[in-house]
Amino acid sequence: MRTYVFGPVPSRRLGISLGVDLTPTKTCSYDCIYCQLSRTRFHTAKRDRFCPPHDVVKELREVLGEIATPDWITFSGTGEPTLNIDMGFIIAELKKITQAPVCVITNSSLIHLEEVRNDLLLANRILPTLTTVRQSTFARIHRPAPGIELNDSLTGLKLFSEVFSGTIEIEIFVIPGINDSDEEIQGLHDFIETMPRISSIYLNTSVRAPLENEVATADQGRLDRFREKLNLKIPVSTVFEHNLIPPRPANWNRKNAGDEILKLLLRHPCNHEQICQVLGIESDRLTTIIEQLLHENQIMKQANGDYRLLD
Ligand code: SF4
Repeated sequence: MRTYVFGPVPSRRLGISLGVDLTPTKTCSYDCIYCQLSRTRFHTAKRDRFCPPHDVVKELREVLGEIATPDWITFSGTGEPTLNIDMGFIIAELKKITQAPVCVITNSSLIHLEEVRNDLLLANRILPTLTTVRQSTFARIHRPAPGIELNDSLTGLKLFSEVFSGTIEIEIFVIPGINDSDEEIQGLHDFIETMPRISSIYLNTSVRAPLENEVATADQGRLDRFREKLNLKIPVSTVFEHNLIPPRPANWNRKNAGDEILKLLLRHPCNHEQICQVLGIESDRLTTIIEQLLHENQIMKQANGDYRLLD
């Protein structure tokens, strides 16, 4: 049974990605209204040692010995990875055992800390969140833990972009009526223009069940308008323009499908078809496994057809 490593899973932007989850479930510095997981259980701005770092490296070494080299090893999961004080050590050790590049998906809340920036410098690619430059909108969307300030995050992002030689792709989560007014977009434009070495912008929106009902989905037309108003010279793509599921590798390894389904649903509620696609399981076989997991009260089916873990 793996504890820290999940997948590999196909990812919209990362191809075949092996995930590393460095925090206990839903440990985060934010409690975003658009989060697809659940309310944040451990709301904290304090970096900590959440697990023995050598155990994470050992598990990564074992998994990497069993699978083909993934396109990316991605630090993300059920919380904010930069909260883990050992992230830099783990990335450095990982570099000794694999050629696979490392990506970190971060909410940017701690990037003003020099030690966090130093950890992130060890990665090859960073996907930081930036949804707004306005304090009131920031507080409404992210519901940050005490001590987290928007201005710190903006300063840290700018400092990091000045020294990082890898790829930075900013993710803007677009919520109609909340952060897509002309003023909001102009503020983002002005800030992003001050950041050197940004490779691209990714416009995301709620494509799965969000935490709060006030979060609507921005359709492609609305994202197109957002992109046009953003008016940047760097590439801007939208969630709908990326392939949902890249092809699976020939040696796709699914020894324990039930366990893999639970791990997938812990991070992403999915419907039947999505689980089939992501995990490469035949529909009939999945039906049998889902019925068993429902019977055992391990998962539930939501009104929109997505399955999610029961707490
Ligand atoms: S969306 Fe990400 S940053 Fe926001 S609460 Fe969920 S895990 Fe944390």
